[in-house]
Amino acid sequence: MTRHTPPPPAAGCRNAPVLKQRGQHEVFCGLTGIIWLHRKMQDAFFLVVGSRTCAHLLQSAAGVMIFAEPRFGTAILEETDLAGLADAQEELEAQVERLLERRGDIRQLFLVGSCPSEVIKLDLARAAERLSARHAPRVRVLNYSGSGIETTFTEGEDACLAAMVPALPATDRRQLMLVGALPDVVEDQALDLLAQMGITDVTVLPARHADSDVAVGPNTVFALTQPFLGGTHAALERRGARHIPAPFPFGEEGTTAWLRAVAREFGVDPARFDAVTDAPRARARHAVAKATETLNGKSVFFFPDSQLEVPLARFLTRECGMEALEVGTPYLHKGVVGAELDLLADGTALSEGQDVDLQLDRCRAARPDLTVCGLGLANPLEAEGLTTKWAIELVFTPVHFYEQAGDLAGLFSRPLRRRAALKLEAAE
Ligand code: SF4
Repeated sequence: MTRHTPPPPAAGCRNAPVLKQRGQHEVFCGLTGIIWLHRKMQDAFFLVVGSRTCAHLLQSAAGVMIFAEPRFGTAILEETDLAGLADAQEELEAQVERLLERRGDIRQLFLVGSCPSEVIKLDLARAAERLSARHAPRVRVLNYSGSGIETTFTEGEDACLAAMVPALPATDRRQLMLVGALPDVVEDQALDLLAQMGITDVTVLPARHADSDVAVGPNTVFALTQPFLGGTHAALERRGARHIPAPFPFGEEGTTAWLRAVAREFGVDPARFDAVTDAPRARARHAVAKATETLNGKSVFFFPDSQLEVPLARFLTRECGMEALEVGTPYLHKGVVGAELDLLADGTALSEGQDVDLQLDRCRAARPDLTVCGLGLANPLEAEGLTTKWAIELVFTPVHFYEQAGDLAGLFSRPLRRRAALKLEAAE
């Protein structure tokens, strides 16, 4: 197959110096993950134990579910709870009892901690344990934190999946586990490609239903589909599973490298690999090429937000011809993104964590053609004449694997095209 991406850089960025900053940061909290997790896990309920602010965040981000019974809600901590004047623990358990009595469709219940529940040190682990003992095997009750204290918005999914791992049954089966909540249609595409290569003993975490046959053990190998799953990665290793390190399935190159790493692990014949991937690779390249007409030669600056920054920088620089001026990421977990760093051009500026004012100064000085950042920074930067892309859109839009490669590139080319159109209008 013809190469369409440049050869890997001589050294890459795995051992490159990283600017580490621990100042004020601008991010969303982990509750945001509930928006996509509740769609994925079709018999789960997410009960946020939080304040009215948490309820508003969820409601405005997710919209109102009109036609279905909602699968997330907020148990509001009132001022009396926060002041320690009421037994919030008892009231929470009573609320869960009422919920489970009313909703026979719930098979997994997540008690999701928030800033307020953490501040008053509500013991959600103990509540989950007690409720699980009462309602097993019909309902499994787990807890995790979605609080915004020192976390980024994608850590909610990581915390949720990591909480599920200790409860998974043990198995000695030789199997592949795909880890990360993908839209069903994208997950099906991945499973289909793997099946065509003969890899069929595959489980997915999180599964669509609680009674799916997901188990873990020493013969489980797992491939992450999202780069923000460091906690889940560690939890699976504690259960004896082994990680298959690979670039992430973004764009043609990333998807091929991800599939190749899995295929090697399962001894798939290279000719069969090519036969399965040649056609979708060509489609992906063709789709990316359309957006590349806009992106080629442009510069991009990443603020740390989604933890997708390193794989996206790799995709944009190697497949779309962009130049990365700074790749900021909340955490740089080399065990997870090491293979991506190997593909980033030597000399790319990397930063971990944030001191937002200093980073804004660097961004203003660099004047990138495109800035990828959180919602809170996008409007002020647009007002200063910079073109931005909201990082959060990347987790709400199907962007993984071959068939979505063009859409992924399109997410970055659209703001540039819009800006150019506005300039034209203004000039007329
Ligand atoms: S968890 Fe914290 S940051 Fe998130 S909405 Fe609630 S109070 Fe705000």
